[in-house]
Amino acid sequence: MSKRLLFILLTGLLLLLAASSSSKPAGSFEALFCPQCWDYLWGAGSVDLKGNCAACGKYPVALEGQTAMWWWCSSQERWLEAPCDQSAVRHCCAGEESIALVSPGADVFWAWYCPVHRTFDGVTLPVLGIPICGTCARPAVKVQATRRAWYWCESEGVWNPSACPLDPVRKCCAKHQGILLVSPQPRPWATSEK
Ligand SMILES: [Zn+2]
Ligand SMILES: [Zn+2]
Ligand SMILES: [Zn+2]
Ligand SMILES: [Zn+2]
Repeated sequence: MSKRLLFILLTGLLLLLAASSSSKPAGSFEALFCPQCWDYLWGAGSVDLKGNCAACGKYPVALEGQTAMWWWCSSQERWLEAPCDQSAVRHCCAGEESIALVSPGADVFWAWYCPVHRTFDGVTLPVLGIPICGTCARPAVKVQATRRAWYWCESEGVWNPSACPLDPVRKCCAKHQGILLVSPQPRPWATSEK
């Protein structure tokens, strides 16, 4: 074997090792989330000059996020995962962007979600077996979700994953909990349900 060939083989092996050891999913980013307002801080004016939530003034927590898109097709009146064939001509499909949590942990379940309002709770009347958003009346999409909670400690002025040790006495910690959208990739649970 020539030295050059050996070098190429070794370089290739190293590249393979580097690729397999990077566990970060492609396209993920650090998303700022306000547990008080239960919303991601994105778009103009969502954070103040100090980097705190513009709505409540508390600092956000950083979550590993990924963009999730659904397309509302106004001619088919349903949500699609990509614009339909007709959209280039008829402009019938409009994209709605959400942030989905990457690496959510074990507690992942199926939920109904409105990509416009980014809510799980507005879903009411089922039409044709599919629940609809209570606000926009569009059919909800079936998504994977997880429950999260943060505690705001008034005496420390920080977000904690649980109530602080002094909370039983001081009653200084307030729990904020809700449901977060989960990214479908990677799909370790894909075999359990389609
Ligand atoms: Zn806030
Ligand atoms: Zn369309
Ligand atoms: Zn809605
Ligand atoms: Zn506390």
